[in-house]
Amino acid sequence: MTRVIAVANQKGGVGKTTTAVNLAAGLAKSGRRVLLVDLDPQGNATMGSGIDKRALKQTIYHVLLGLSAVENVRTRAPGGTYDVLPANRDLAGAEIEMVDLENREVRLKSALVPVAGEYDFILLDCPPALNLLTVNGLVAADSVIIPMQCEYYALEGLSDLVNTIKKVRAHLNPHIEIDGLLRTMFDPRNTLAQQVSAELQQHFGAKVYETIIPRNVRLAEAPSYGKPSIEFDPTCKGSQAYVALTEELLWREAATQSAA
Ligand code: ATP
Ligand code: MG
Repeated sequence: MTRVIAVANQKGGVGKTTTAVNLAAGLAKSGRRVLLVDLDPQGNATMGSGIDKRALKQTIYHVLLGLSAVENVRTRAPGGTYDVLPANRDLAGAEIEMVDLENREVRLKSALVPVAGEYDFILLDCPPALNLLTVNGLVAADSVIIPMQCEYYALEGLSDLVNTIKKVRAHLNPHIEIDGLLRTMFDPRNTLAQQVSAELQQHFGAKVYETIIPRNVRLAEAPSYGKPSIEFDPTCKGSQAYVALTEELLWREAATQSAA
């Protein structure tokens, strides 16, 4: 069964793309067939997978507007372990152009149907906004991973995201669930980070991943080499954390399936 997971948080720079790219590589490393969908006009997941966003003739923009099919646009990441549905600045126009289209919220979901069976996991890297692109991601997804930095304002935006997910569940995608909150860029020496982390666990319990992603400069360096960190430097602390997250995700997945 294909599992579609959106990595979303309307806050910028919280580690969405780093999480999506490294999870894609981690799941591929564990033998899973993975498609990484770049839903952000910044094209960071595309570049971070080693694909030059400026050289693309067709992108997810063409897919969302019905000008091309996923089969014609997806491409293998040069690392060779997972497929990417790439994006670049063209996608910024899609939001406006999609407004007048029919079923504008379900365009990604419909476009993925023909290829879904080819993958075990489809990961969606959402942009830092609660816009139509993110809504397309949430409508297509079975579940959501929410990366968060443990800082003072972390919880403030969370209720907006949770409300958006609730609305999507009520009107467009009754199955969607929050898979988990992921603590990213964590610095254990920072007392505030520890407090916020403890607060998250109190409020959200098992919805918080046990795995914590530490602040680690290798994670920030890897994209400039066009590689997920777990391929670029598998031994660094950041990569090890993403491998642990992959294992936790697979373990949780197996537990849900056996409970069903
Ligand atoms: P945006 O909202 O702009 O899409 P994002 O939520 O996708 O951002 P990333 O692009 O993954 O966030 O991360 C923001 C920046 O922080 C990047 O430069 C990235 O390389 C760096 N970064 C991400 N995670 C870590 C980490 N754990 N340690 C150190 N640097 C990190
Ligand atoms: Mg991003």
